[in-house]
Amino acid sequence: MFRIGGHVSISGGYPEAVNRQGKIGGNCGQIFPGSPRGWKVSKPSKKEAEEFKNACKENNIKPWVVHATYLINLATPKDDLAKKSVKAVQEEINAAAKLGIEYYVFHPGAHTGAGIEEGIENVASRLSKLDIPENVTVLLENTAGKGTTIGKTFESLDRMVQKSSYGYDKLGICLDTCHMYAAGYDFSTEKELESLVDKFDSEIGLKNLHVLHLNDSKNPLESEKDEHADIGKGYIGEKSFKLLLSHKKLKDKPMVLETPDSGKGYQWNIEKCRELREK
Ligand code: ZN
Ligand code: MN
Ligand code: MN
Repeated sequence: MFRIGGHVSISGGYPEAVNRQGKIGGNCGQIFPGSPRGWKVSKPSKKEAEEFKNACKENNIKPWVVHATYLINLATPKDDLAKKSVKAVQEEINAAAKLGIEYYVFHPGAHTGAGIEEGIENVASRLSKLDIPENVTVLLENTAGKGTTIGKTFESLDRMVQKSSYGYDKLGICLDTCHMYAAGYDFSTEKELESLVDKFDSEIGLKNLHVLHLNDSKNPLESEKDEHADIGKGYIGEKSFKLLLSHKKLKDKPMVLETPDSGKGYQWNIEKCRELREK
């Protein structure tokens, strides 16, 4: 079954997110467990969590992804920020577990001058400190690679996972198409997509790819800029999305849109993806 949905707000409580997802025509989804630019995690009450789970079941909307706040930085050389980040991640993962949400996704962060190697070591050791609940998988999202941001390449993501005590048992990957394109990975022809999929499979393993973030890019290939566009309306374009959405090794992965608020809206983007995907 094709699972596609949008990133929706939890304003009014977690169960409201399921309502919003239904309204835009999505059958899976993503939320922030608080303000995306704050540290405070909204802890669901037992009643709220039950309501959320029931609404998902009734409407067959799954899986869900909890996206980390943008403030966390597990790659940082600063101890205070690292401590604060690990604490926030743990709280967010706990919220996910309580809601029955199986995926948690975060950006590996920035080394802010300490160097890529140290950044990778930092992410790995801080991931090892987490207590990841049984029913949650923590996903590292690839980045556009701007500045000292790490996690631009498949190979670097793999090293963060392999160096942590959890490995791929409890960790996995979320691939963002806009970030991938901005980082220089192209998939505009069948041949390019095929070699991209092969590259991911040999460097990480396709079974460790749990979620795709579908976003077009406002900037050209290798721009390193993280600016999302509506599907088909950016530099990636319809043709590339058609290939990706129809690829036999990707089509069964849950896909979540993070298209801009100023754009055509999630309903339009979800319909566009359904239309582009070959049956
Ligand atoms: Zn993200
Ligand atoms: Mn993303
Ligand atoms: Mn982004």
